[in-house]
Amino acid sequence: MTERGLLLVDIDGVLADVTHRQHHLAGTRKNWNAFFAAADADPLIEAGAEAVRQAADDGYPIVYLTGRPERLRQVTEGWLTRHDLPVSPGALQMRPHREWRPAADFKVHVVRTLASGRTVADMWDDDEAVVSALHAAGFPARVPLWAQPRSSAFADAQDRLGRT
Ligand SMILES: [Mg+2]
Repeated sequence: MTERGLLLVDIDGVLADVTHRQHHLAGTRKNWNAFFAAADADPLIEAGAEAVRQAADDGYPIVYLTGRPERLRQVTEGWLTRHDLPVSPGALQMRPHREWRPAADFKVHVVRTLASGRTVADMWDDDEAVVSALHAAGFPARVPLWAQPRSSAFADAQDRLGRT
């Protein structure tokens, strides 16, 4: 039986609806603690969850690749489990402490590491910059149809500040 390649899935904007907490990042005084503290309350993006469950049923190993910081690990694992999304050991890749590269740089780095042992079937991310960087590095990636539009403050936090 041929082993399927990894399906890499971003969380914020693909599975988790972050709309309700983006306002913490607006303006010059960004409230990172409030922004991250509210992550546990993110509504589920049903279309994304269904697609992940289907892919898992089809035999794709699922790896969540998120720009969320490592300190949100427990919250994030709990959230995924609560929403009936498969979480196997090692399946949640997060930003290490004080890793503040732009999301695209950080994610390409992780995908390269993951791809040293496995093929990558696809990566679903709502960030065009991440998708372009992965394509440039020779990996498949796409913005799924159900991806949410990002606020400019949230996009800045990911693409320039490297905070999430
Ligand atoms: Mg995202």
